[in-house]
Amino acid sequence: MSGTARAQTKTESATVKVKVRKDPTFTRTVNAPDARAQAFRSALCQTRMRGRRDLDTGKALVMRWLFADQLGPHFLADYDGPVLLIESQAALRRHHVHRAKAHLILSGLRHLAAELGDRAVYIKTDTYREALQRVEEPVHVVHPTSRPALQFVQSLGLEVLPARGFVTSAEQFADWTGERPLLETFYRAARRATGVLMDGGEPVGGRWNLDADNREPPPRKARTLGVPAPWWPNEDVVDEQVRADLESVPTLGRDGPRRFAVTRDEALAALGVFIEQRLPDFGRYEDAMLTGDPWMAHSLLSVPLNLGLLDPPEVIEAAEIAYRNGRAPLNAAEGFIRQILGWREYMWHLYWWLPSDYPTRNYLDARNPLPEWFEQMESSPARCLDVTLREVRETGWAHHIQRLMILGSWALQRGYDPAQLNDWFRRAFVDGYDWVMLGNVIGMSQYADGGIVATKPYTSGGAYIKKMSDYCSDCQFRPDRRTGELACPFTAGYWDFLARNEQALRGNHRMGRPLASMRRLADLPEARQAAARFQ
Ligand SMILES: Cc1cc2nc3c(=O)[nH]c(=O)nc-3n(C[C@H](O)[C@H](O)[C@H](O)COP(=O)(O)OP(=O)(O)OC[C@H]3O[C@@H](n4cnc5c(N)ncnc54)[C@H](O)[C@@H]3O)c2cc1C
Ligand code: SF4
Repeated sequence: MSGTARAQTKTESATVKVKVRKDPTFTRTVNAPDARAQAFRSALCQTRMRGRRDLDTGKALVMRWLFADQLGPHFLADYDGPVLLIESQAALRRHHVHRAKAHLILSGLRHLAAELGDRAVYIKTDTYREALQRVEEPVHVVHPTSRPALQFVQSLGLEVLPARGFVTSAEQFADWTGERPLLETFYRAARRATGVLMDGGEPVGGRWNLDADNREPPPRKARTLGVPAPWWPNEDVVDEQVRADLESVPTLGRDGPRRFAVTRDEALAALGVFIEQRLPDFGRYEDAMLTGDPWMAHSLLSVPLNLGLLDPPEVIEAAEIAYRNGRAPLNAAEGFIRQILGWREYMWHLYWWLPSDYPTRNYLDARNPLPEWFEQMESSPARCLDVTLREVRETGWAHHIQRLMILGSWALQRGYDPAQLNDWFRRAFVDGYDWVMLGNVIGMSQYADGGIVATKPYTSGGAYIKKMSDYCSDCQFRPDRRTGELACPFTAGYWDFLARNEQALRGNHRMGRPLASMRRLADLPEARQAAARFQ
């Protein structure tokens, strides 16, 4: 975390209070996120002219174009000139994204335009190129978050400012991880460099990673985790208009109430509620799944983070302060901080580090197209898949283990084409953006890179799902059956996956035992027949 970021957080609060008790061992007793709101407001006030302007006429000499995932104050902290915001109708129509995602993007852009008032130049067109033709001033941009967008702005000769919205730099990533970038190596180096959760040169509590404490199954017979509800937004007239405009746009999934933050104040409110009320329970049940509790103790902050409304340093700092002041246990704070300072940063840098052919990698030669029912998130007889698809259909969100061990694992077992699946994840999830998909979908969930991101394929039989959820008790299948009418599609599918990919996985030492178990199965052909019923 930079000195500036730390200093900026030491100012007084605005709307949402992240309460912090004074702690003599930890001096950063601040209302971390609120300072950003204040910085944003002062940027809006334009008391000092830091945009490039003609000294005689005061006219802007440059205009900053903000993409729809660059909506927070850190994208304007060094600039107070006019701001270009473009709503591209063609992009929206072409991509068939989830209705909730399209809503968040349009609502975020339009709310920012309203907040910026006269500073905003808001253009609705078919293409970005058309919009840019209408602008007289030279335009500069903050480094976009996808390769195609970067190539586009470079092809137009626009000035590209360094990336924002991440804690670490590409140079640090390269220095720390070398030829074989491993998450754990990167995360420890990031902790050392930022001082986050460090006591001198050692990790707080003596361990770098408390993952082992964070894998508990849900409490027995619990229908919900019983933690306070997440923060929910109140829709306004902007949302009403967006909803009406989206009527004619082809989208995926259902329209529903907006569930994620689209303004800076909303993002701070969501952060405040999470840190104060839900963070203490974050760690323990991080991997657990309950039918009656889609959100569990997750933060739901991926949307405001990926829209650029929250800057990761302030989120990390708020969690660390909660731990230092005794309001959250270490396993919760470390678990949460690892997601952001570790996984999120790691995936961002991987996106740019990986070769440009990475999106088309298909190590397991998986060629099956995504079935229409999966694409459209229709119902499935497999209860775990059915619940998860319904949640994505309704909200555009599901938590990490549902993404990895239900949706991803189902697709991996059935040999769905990784590039098609990647595209589906990007469109179907409210937080889906190019940079975050590749490592998570192509690498981690589909093993399509042959082991760059994950050291082995992430998939399991029904036993894991039974242990970590309450799904199986209401299912027509039995998690321990691999053959016959009651065979669990995940259990049968697991053995079928191993049998189908035996050659490709043979050289992976972590797959030695599963492959040996598979070879010993006398009823493997019947299990594979059972798996074939579920494509
Ligand atoms: C197949 C698959 C697809 C995924 N697709 C996306 C995606 O489109 N967008 C996205 O932001 N995350 C994605 N993730 C990562 C993770 O599942 C989501 O970030 C998380 O579920 C979002 O919910 P949350 O904000 O409540 O997260 P929490 O569980 O509260 O975690 C806190 C934050 O950590 C960050 N984070 C955690 N894990 C990851 C990760 N693996 N990669 C990047 N950031 C991470 C997110 O910003 C998240 O908000 C994917 C993971 C898998 C396995
Ligand atoms: S029995 Fe199998 S298909 Fe049914 S919920 Fe359990 S894991 Fe899923």
